[in-house]
Amino acid sequence: MPSNLFCELCGTKISTPIKVLIDGVLLSTCLSCSKRGKPYESKSKPNTTQTQHITLSKPTFI
Ligand SMILES: [Zn+2]
Repeated sequence: MPSNLFCELCGTKISTPIKVLIDGVLLSTCLSCSKRGKPYESKSKPNTTQTQHITLSKPTFI
């Protein structure tokens, strides 16, 4: 299902929001902005599978 999500910091369209704590505020950010804050880990769900598949694929333009 398509998800139109945007980074709450820079406004970049993101497919997989990353929840981080910045100044005590939980934000859904993109990957680059998530490095500004602390990674937020919700430990409410014990059955967690690794869904974070971050692939930094470089375009093969020659
Ligand atoms: Zn961002």
